[in-house]
Amino acid sequence: MAPRGPAPRPRHIRDLLDSGEPLFSFEFFPPRNERSQERLWRAIREIEALGPSFVSVTYGAGGGTRDLTVETTERIATDTTLMPVAHMTLVDHSVAELRHLIGRLADAGVSNMLAVRGDPPGDPDGEWVSHPRGLTYAEELVRLLKESGDFCVGVAAFPYKHPRSADVEIDTDHFVRKCEAGADYAITQMFFDAEDYLRLRDRVAARGCEVPIIPEVFPVVKLSSIPRSEKLSGAPFPRDLAARFERFGDDAEAVRAFGIEHAQNMCERLLSEGAPGIHFITFNQSTATREIYREVAGHRAGSAGAARP
Ligand code: FAD
Repeated sequence: MAPRGPAPRPRHIRDLLDSGEPLFSFEFFPPRNERSQERLWRAIREIEALGPSFVSVTYGAGGGTRDLTVETTERIATDTTLMPVAHMTLVDHSVAELRHLIGRLADAGVSNMLAVRGDPPGDPDGEWVSHPRGLTYAEELVRLLKESGDFCVGVAAFPYKHPRSADVEIDTDHFVRKCEAGADYAITQMFFDAEDYLRLRDRVAARGCEVPIIPEVFPVVKLSSIPRSEKLSGAPFPRDLAARFERFGDDAEAVRAFGIEHAQNMCERLLSEGAPGIHFITFNQSTATREIYREVAGHRAGSAGAARP
């Protein structure tokens, strides 16, 4: 009998989700210049050493960073042991261009995608205008990817609702449509109160949708992260939490320590409530997220009696 080799590595996030173990993943954005390229790759290598479930690379709303997203994702696929997820958007792309992009990523061995619509370039709150030969909603990109090959496709979910949606119920209906179009998993927008995630999950479950929703966690390690989070998510930062951060004033160390503790507690709560994993936003600096990951993953391994980080 031929000797059995090691079990093949899972190819898709859905296989990892099926295992029932919590996933830990990290999000990067494409570098803008040589210096930020070095910083990004230092962070990627530091994260690689932790053996995360996957890493994702965001897709710029327009301009030069798009090629860098594709190059970075391809390089992660070929030069590291990590499972890369390519974010894709509809902004300024015809369907033919999207098909070309899908083919290029597939050639590099990338088969996990996050299908998002993207925001209008320049002013994220400006009017959304579809490319004349393009698509209008992320739901259509999910279908395009699913028709194009064996891709594992994720979509975005919004605990506080998408800023353009009239209310959370309509927003949830649209989210469920993306799932029905074939999404395998979802990743949320950042949020700062675990209850907001749990309410979203309940709304989705009430519509009979069982697509796993991975919460995205952004650790606030300086006061300037608060307005930055509002700009990125389009949602107000919780007032009472902001006041707790502001009490530390100029004491940067105390702000950082409180932010790490808050993120860590939220991760623990989310996992104890059955969240399928945690997706960390790194902003290409891995120190804070690695610290939180080590605590949270180590704590869970300790309570399960297993030898994990
Ligand atoms: P959609 O699902 O298309 O929804 C857009 C709006 O249309 C919502 O208000 C929705 O309720 C509504 N809608 C949806 N379907 C319908 C329908 N059939 N009829 C009527 N209305 C409908 N942006 C980037 O530019 N690059 C990235 O890499 C990126 N990564 C992201 C990762 C995550 C985890 C998240 C949460 C967001 C990310 N974004 C990224 C931001 C995202 O592109 C924007 O928030 C965008 O405005 C919405 O994208 P969506 O995929 O949710 O859009």
